[in-house]
Amino acid sequence: MRDVLLLFGMQGSGKGTQGERIKERYGRFTDVIVGQLLREGAKTNPEMQALMKTGKLFPNPMIEAVIEERIKTIPEDERIIFDGFPRSEIQLEIYENLAKKHGFKSLAVDIIITEEEALKRLSKRYVCPQCDYVAIGSGKCPKCGADLEKRVDDQDETAVKQRISIFKKDTRPIMDYFKQEGELIEVDGVGTFDEVTERIFKKLDDYYKK
Ligand SMILES: [Zn+2]
Repeated sequence: MRDVLLLFGMQGSGKGTQGERIKERYGRFTDVIVGQLLREGAKTNPEMQALMKTGKLFPNPMIEAVIEERIKTIPEDERIIFDGFPRSEIQLEIYENLAKKHGFKSLAVDIIITEEEALKRLSKRYVCPQCDYVAIGSGKCPKCGADLEKRVDDQDETAVKQRISIFKKDTRPIMDYFKQEGELIEVDGVGTFDEVTERIFKKLDDYYKK
């Protein structure tokens, strides 16, 4: 069995930062960043490139194959962390397949913030164009070193509200699934990043050894 941690949270919940802190505290965690894998895959795979250009969704078997390739490169005793995957009920099927095939011991963490809080934070956030890391304030990405950028669509309140409502709709069935499996930890995401980190550690200490 391989420990797999899935991080979920509304735009602006700070899950990228919390993921970094979890990795630091418990060690032996490797990121699997699905968006990045797909972007990289599209560089060499014409079929993927065409899909990306038209903005169409990647079919499940394609996503599953890309993730599987990545998993094969990770040592057996290493834990995996997914940030924001699966994104929808359709992608949940990919996760279930992988979990069965590779013997995942899953634990999902949902960092819960209100919509008002999300809107407030998004107006101040920066995003890594390479790996989707999210930060409050500019600078270099702590994960890959690229320059963080402000996203134009974070500044448009109507667009942001729409993204949040899509997130809420898409994520609910995923949270319900992990809850049903007894694999969901819900954390109050309101407060400073440090306060939220403390809440997360308090719960994860029961699952992972430092
Ligand atoms: Zn980055």
